[in-house]
Amino acid sequence: MRTVITGGAGFIGSHLCERLLARGDVVLCVDNLITGALENIEELRKNDRFQFIRHDISHPLEIDGPVDNVLHFASLASPVDYLRHPIQTLKVGSLGTHNTLGLAKVKDARFLLASTSEVYGDPQVHPQREDYWGHVNCVGVRGCYDESKRFAEAIAMAYLRTHEVNTSIVRIFNTYGPRMRLDDGRVLPNFMGQALRGEPLTVYGDGSQTRSFCYVDDLVEGIVRLLESGCHEPVNLGNPSEITILQFAEEILALVGGKSKVEFRPLPQDDPKVRQPEIAKARSLLGWQPRIDRHEGLKRTLAYFQRRVAQSARS
Ligand code: UDP
Repeated sequence: MRTVITGGAGFIGSHLCERLLARGDVVLCVDNLITGALENIEELRKNDRFQFIRHDISHPLEIDGPVDNVLHFASLASPVDYLRHPIQTLKVGSLGTHNTLGLAKVKDARFLLASTSEVYGDPQVHPQREDYWGHVNCVGVRGCYDESKRFAEAIAMAYLRTHEVNTSIVRIFNTYGPRMRLDDGRVLPNFMGQALRGEPLTVYGDGSQTRSFCYVDDLVEGIVRLLESGCHEPVNLGNPSEITILQFAEEILALVGGKSKVEFRPLPQDDPKVRQPEIAKARSLLGWQPRIDRHEGLKRTLAYFQRRVAQSARS
């Protein structure tokens, strides 16, 4: 198998590269490093089946030779990043998806789009099933991300229906694990960094909003199963274990120890109040369910963030 993966130097992308190399694939990792990092793929670059191509996939990309799979994971996925780069976010979700679909079409490859639970917006149906159409503010600050992914899903379906490209769509819910950036602004890196430095944990709003956190290895297993399936419809992947953000802060405080307290900050605009994946479809179509519970996943992630915090203190 020869597999092209955009966003391959990012958090989820680099774990996928690693997994696909272990499966025996030749992996062509495409990334412009706007949020990805070479250190995520440092080990992988020693493998002669791995190639790194520095490229912004919002511009067309030509690849020589056959390609069996095209996975489009390039995106600015953290709210802090996409609020800072809204136009790049819209471009990679729209033009980037168009370009990667074009590549899959010309190579007759399987295509997999990394979509998101954000297509459901601030959901009025709970938990979120794939047949829910969502509740998105297209002109709000999160619209650049949500609408680019909704467009990406629409164009993937159009390429399936019009050109019979072998497309698939994964809707990824909150995921965590090693290789998240310490400063990416998401809740877990913030809380772990703050707890490890003995700073207050910044809970936005009253902390009653919920999320459901999936460990990255579980997610990657589901993505590979979806890639290997013939499924074209969107499939949710995430861990249905739901928790309030305030409880999450307390869990991390208990795990890390130390003297940090919780501090409340204003809730960002259009912050979804609840989020929990309905995963019946992934269970029945892919035989998939998460295996790593939050306690175990957080322990593994803490070991990584301990190293990151120590590194950043030295530099
Ligand atoms: N959040 C928080 N404190 C932080 C960062 C985030 O309370 O320092 C909240 C945020 O308002 C949201 C949830 O945690 O309700 C998850 O935020 P994140 O940025 O991780 O991703 P989202 O799920 O909103 O895309």
